[in-house]
Amino acid sequence: MTHHISAFYHFMPLTDLEALKTEIEGQARALGINGLLILGPEGINTTCSSPSEENLTRFKAWIIDRFNCPGIRFKDAKSDQPPFRRYKVKVREEICTAGIPGVLPPEGSNRHLTPDEWNRVMEEDPETVLIDTRNWYEYRIGTFRGALNPNIEKFTDFPTYIEKQGIKKDQKMLIFCTGGIRCEKGILDLEQSGYTNVFQLEGGILNYLEQHPNGKFEGECFVFDQRVAVDQDLKPSQRYTLCPHCGQPADVKIDCARCDHPMTICPECSDLPVKAITCSKNCAHQWELHPGRKGNRQIPSFTSNR
Ligand SMILES: [Zn+2]
Ligand SMILES: [Zn+2]
Repeated sequence: MTHHISAFYHFMPLTDLEALKTEIEGQARALGINGLLILGPEGINTTCSSPSEENLTRFKAWIIDRFNCPGIRFKDAKSDQPPFRRYKVKVREEICTAGIPGVLPPEGSNRHLTPDEWNRVMEEDPETVLIDTRNWYEYRIGTFRGALNPNIEKFTDFPTYIEKQGIKKDQKMLIFCTGGIRCEKGILDLEQSGYTNVFQLEGGILNYLEQHPNGKFEGECFVFDQRVAVDQDLKPSQRYTLCPHCGQPADVKIDCARCDHPMTICPECSDLPVKAITCSKNCAHQWELHPGRKGNRQIPSFTSNR
């Protein structure tokens, strides 16, 4: 069955969040929508899905109407497997963690480059600094050719990284992320620190891939649901699963030394002595206690992530 997926965000001041949460959940339930929505005093940020394209379209129309946001950009994709098992609204202070809650990007910002403009700047202005604002494990499985990797664990480390690079305050900087929302805050952060020439990729990598598959973005794009990542055609990753030890994108195939179960683990864990040869936290634990001893699979419902 095809599942229709849409990712979108919108910044706007919101109040009465608990009542709003109930309202959104009710609407999602009525239309059979699954997904995760982050709700905060500064707006909404979500990825959601439905086997019914029509219902997803209705849900989007309701969002536009309810939040009065006709200009909202939906990043759509498809998957044969459901990317979410349920619908959930989480209320948070920030809808994208940047450590500056309550600072809303100005309406009608001209700091966005369309994927076409983005390509043009990269081709015509080789001095431009290109920066991936995502986490290191997202960068590892795919990024723009020539992009700097801040190698950060969390987005709040981003401004500090930029300061350390010694980038001139008027240097042209292009920043990008998965769907665009992190960069909205990234630009504000950088402007507060005195950088005057920062631009972001509108709609993020997901929007870029929709318009330029096999363009300047190389590899796959990590997404925060069951798909793990999407490929150049925005299809669910055929290559990556999630590492059973640490939860990062995994593409190293092993057979568990303890229970012989086939599993795919991540490159980092494949460099660690026990994790490299075990299929799960449990087998790793047992192997540490009794190296060399075989055992049955400990979790009855446990299946290969391959
Ligand atoms: Zn791992
Ligand atoms: Zn095992």
